[in-house]
Amino acid sequence: MVTPKSRVLQYDSVLIQRGELLNVAAVCPKTRALGPGWRSAIWVQGCPFHCAGCISPEWTTFQPAHSINPVELASTLLADPEISGLTFSGGEPMQQAAGLANLARKARQQRPINIITYTGYKLEVLKKGIPDRSVFKLLDETDVLIDGQFISALNDNRGMRGSSNQRVHYLTGQLKDFNFEKAPRLSEVQVLDGQVLMVGVPEEYLLQAFYRAMWQLESLPLQLVKK
Ligand code: SF4
Repeated sequence: MVTPKSRVLQYDSVLIQRGELLNVAAVCPKTRALGPGWRSAIWVQGCPFHCAGCISPEWTTFQPAHSINPVELASTLLADPEISGLTFSGGEPMQQAAGLANLARKARQQRPINIITYTGYKLEVLKKGIPDRSVFKLLDETDVLIDGQFISALNDNRGMRGSSNQRVHYLTGQLKDFNFEKAPRLSEVQVLDGQVLMVGVPEEYLLQAFYRAMWQLESLPLQLVKK
């Protein structure tokens, strides 16, 4: 978990509901694998969907992870002048829409950036105010929404979405020239605060190789891993 200068606070579900706190699974301060340009990615903890083959099942359970003030997080992530956008994923961003909208708003007060949000909900459902009305705030801050649950059988290894049923909605004019459905998939392996993280939308073979490597690493004696 990367929290440079962002304090990890006490978990408080009321503050999370009000958008004054985020329950964050992980943060990647700098990546090129989740949209155009240099971006920061934030994965929130907890998702109500149970997609078979979900790449991050450990982030789907609703449990306290890292409680972070969204305003502080915005300042931390934008301290790097090369960051031109934020990507929200999870877990399910729409379950913490108020906090992510606060983060986006605060970031935009500092400089113009673009926002990409991945969600398992379909846009038509979100427009009904589901799971709650704060989704409207996050939709207002989102330039590109990639919606729909992951369906393993429809993973065509193409584009910056997990499966071909997931749709790309350009909610504003920003990023309209970037073709998320045809862009080559990018993945990065990053070591963040001692944790190995695969960032991006990996091709199937790469994901399997990553899992195998991690499994082998965990099977090695500790002394060997440390060397
Ligand atoms: S919506 Fe995304 S995070 Fe949630 S279970 Fe499906 S793939 Fe995993």
